[in-house]
Amino acid sequence: SRPAPMLDVRADFPLFAHRPKLVFLDSAASSQKPAAVIQAMADFYAHDYANIHRGAYRLSANATDRFEAVRDQAAQFFGAPSRDGVIFTRNATEAINLVAHSWGQLHLNPGDVVLVSEMEHHANLVPWHLITGQRGARVEAVAMTPDGRLDLEDYGHKLRDLPVKLVALQHVSNALGTVHPARQLVEMAHSYGVPILLDGAQAAPHLPLNLDALGADFYVLSAHKMLGPSGVGLLLARPEALRGMPPYQGGGDMIREVYSQHSTYAPLPHTFEAGTPAIAEVIGFGATLEYLGGLGMARVAAHEHALLSYALQRLGAVDGLQLYGPPDDRCGVVSLNVLGAHAHDVAGFLDEANICVRAGHHCAQPLMRALGVASTVRASFSVYTTPADVDALADALSEIVQFFAETP
Ligand code: PMP
Repeated sequence: SRPAPMLDVRADFPLFAHRPKLVFLDSAASSQKPAAVIQAMADFYAHDYANIHRGAYRLSANATDRFEAVRDQAAQFFGAPSRDGVIFTRNATEAINLVAHSWGQLHLNPGDVVLVSEMEHHANLVPWHLITGQRGARVEAVAMTPDGRLDLEDYGHKLRDLPVKLVALQHVSNALGTVHPARQLVEMAHSYGVPILLDGAQAAPHLPLNLDALGADFYVLSAHKMLGPSGVGLLLARPEALRGMPPYQGGGDMIREVYSQHSTYAPLPHTFEAGTPAIAEVIGFGATLEYLGGLGMARVAAHEHALLSYALQRLGAVDGLQLYGPPDDRCGVVSLNVLGAHAHDVAGFLDEANICVRAGHHCAQPLMRALGVASTVRASFSVYTTPADVDALADALSEIVQFFAETP
């Protein structure tokens, strides 16, 4: 039966006022933005804009204070162990590249293994391919179970049997929505004395997080997937994990003293923040965290979980659909195919009905190979998704199934 929505926040999102017929089910790619976030950035640009960490004048000092306040806000929101380990990047991808290059340069030696999984987004594979290639190390992958979970037995065996120097795993799958047992993944890595990076790009938008309790050495996320602006990501690191890591990029803002022939570097967290950051967008991210805090992440998770259950029930009743992913431990993501139809054609038909979904390999080609498919159609939810959106998807898919059944 149709659930009563836990959250009723559609009016907070101007895009839906401008496009009342739109059924937006591609939030895992990037979410829509509430008015409060758009307004915070517009206000900052219109009234308060200046570069940070430089100016002797008050306008710049105020901008610096507001930027640095978002660092504290993020530390608190995510339960980070220390503000010194809260590093602003462009996105989750850049945060992973930062760790891969800087940590990898310091710690990876010939023969070492970086342990990923075959479920990873390409953002948590390619940086490791690059750095292991440079260091003479290699990447090994934990297998996926047929129902779309990490094979924990394989993970344990690989930790035991391979010279693993670092584990880099996703917290939540972007392709299937699987929520992995993050605490267990961390404990297993640490029981072998191995540090772990968790890719939280798809977890942070949907789940309450307490990173200090979780204990991961590195955690990464992107603001644009969690109602925030594009151009802002976070590396949330235990400061001791960053110890000795060389800067990732050089330039202004990350230095202590520069001479023509050499330089010394600013302390954490500025060591890893070279050049002018996305100042207004970071301030917009502060407004995002305030907005999400107001909703409460536990309610966000409950809202999306109710929608997921409803979607699995409605789509499960449509003959001719293949659904992927586990039956539980899952965020608001539904991955499917219409039997006999190409995912891109299905997405094209859905677009004709004003329904936005993603079709393709979802930047997870090894996972698609493990599933034995080239692509899937993915519908993904956020705080503004409604049961009516799920109905629109299920009704349209029923029609598409019928169309393909009748087309020789
Ligand atoms: N990891 C996962 C699991 C993702 O879903 C994504 C985005 N699709 C990323 C990493 C990369 O995020 P971004 O493109 O914002 O860097």
